[in-house]
Amino acid sequence: MDAALPHASPPPDSWYAASMPGCAPRPALPGDLQADVAILGAGYTGLSAALELAGRGLQVVVLEAGQVGDGASGRNGGQVLPGYGCEVDTLETLVGRADARRLFDFSCQGVDLVRRRVSTHGIDCHWVDGHANVPIQPRQERRLRALQAQLADQYDYPTQWWDTATLRAQLDSNRYRGAMFDPGAAHLHPLAFVRGLAAAAEAAGAIIHEHSRVLSWQTAPYPALRTHHGTVRAGHLLLAGNALLRGIAPTLEDRIMPVGTYIGATPPLGAARAAALIRNNMAVADTSWVLDYFRLSHDHRVLFGGGASYSALPPPGLRQTLTRRLHAVFPQLRDVGLEHLWGGYVDITANRAPHWGRLAPEVYFAQGFSGHGVAAANLAGQVIAEAIAGQAGRLDVFARLRHRPFPGGRLLRRPLLVASMALLRLRDLL
Ligand SMILES: Cc1cc2nc3c(=O)[nH]c(=O)nc-3n(C[C@H](O)[C@H](O)[C@H](O)COP(=O)(O)OP(=O)(O)OC[C@H]3O[C@@H](n4cnc5c(N)ncnc54)[C@H](O)[C@@H]3O)c2cc1C
Repeated sequence: MDAALPHASPPPDSWYAASMPGCAPRPALPGDLQADVAILGAGYTGLSAALELAGRGLQVVVLEAGQVGDGASGRNGGQVLPGYGCEVDTLETLVGRADARRLFDFSCQGVDLVRRRVSTHGIDCHWVDGHANVPIQPRQERRLRALQAQLADQYDYPTQWWDTATLRAQLDSNRYRGAMFDPGAAHLHPLAFVRGLAAAAEAAGAIIHEHSRVLSWQTAPYPALRTHHGTVRAGHLLLAGNALLRGIAPTLEDRIMPVGTYIGATPPLGAARAAALIRNNMAVADTSWVLDYFRLSHDHRVLFGGGASYSALPPPGLRQTLTRRLHAVFPQLRDVGLEHLWGGYVDITANRAPHWGRLAPEVYFAQGFSGHGVAAANLAGQVIAEAIAGQAGRLDVFARLRHRPFPGGRLLRRPLLVASMALLRLRDLL
């Protein structure tokens, strides 16, 4: 087990948690149960699969170590984006142009899926359309323009290119050289959404047990998940623990690195001051390796994410660093600090491509969202549910993406990653 494994308990300082009424805990697994499908993890992946499978009439039991949304799904930046953590070029290298195109199309279906679920299930999660990728350096602008052309020409995914003046009309910051604006992407309140997803899955018939950490899983003599208080025996298992599995599935965990990433929320700025910063209320992300991403909340704060910790501990001086980055984007907020500060763990793969598939014929998994999982994890749950129901077409395309363990093994993978990320960060700064 990795000594520096992340914590799952919700940070008391999350604005998401503070902005919603608390949730009564669901009962822990009381003893032994039998189901068609047993799911580890109540984040987007596990709950998405639970919703789909219960909707098909299967008996589904979800076991969650903490509470619904305690993992990345309840704490992320809320940006609902097509694509994956890697660029389409990486997908093309891994599986060729035709399958890369299919994978990209699936990711767009993931965005549509989230949009549809919000409206079908009436989830009140402050959905707002529009997202801009913004370059800081000429080299980043060249790459982003090339990506925009590639998406339009080869992936039939048109976005808008905004020059500096067009961007400045929407975003009151002089830090950026323009924008690739995507009207099809969006942002939402992630904790409200994951709680809504859980309620929808339960309404469809799924059972969720909280405070029920899975200690081990097995395939023989029958597939099952085991906790301290009981065992769920099922026809199929789904491991959807993301960066928080903590040693129970080494072949999965060797292929991801939990990386800490952090978000701060300013105090409410008032409607007029907030709207003057981002007039069209879009979400924004720059294109650096260690990127800044930000948006407005429905109560007129700036939610500002940035920085990464390649140790599992928050970096020293985090509040000051994040505040400095906020002020670099919006110098007009020099009088404003961060009222809330929280973090979570992203599960990056070495190539940043998603890692979904089967560990055994009846054991499915999805991980490796690499910080790009609001839409993709919802898609993963749906794709795996389809496969369990006998249509594995989409999952088989994902399973063609090959993943190696992180170089250096458990002991050296983190220092090696720190060194390579330091080089990429240096490249951003230069
Ligand atoms: C700070 C931050 C910002 C992000 N911003 C964005 C963004 O803006 N846009 C975007 O697309 N993506 C973003 N992401 C990534 C995105 O949030 C994730 O990819 C996505 O939520 C993954 O969902 P999941 O269900 O696979 O994992 P999780 O939400 O992490 O769920 C896994 C669940 O499994 C449970 N679990 C683990 N082990 C066990 C066990 N043994 N027994 C029982 N339960 C267990 C955990 O408690 C957890 O609840 C961000 C992530 C973070 C941390």
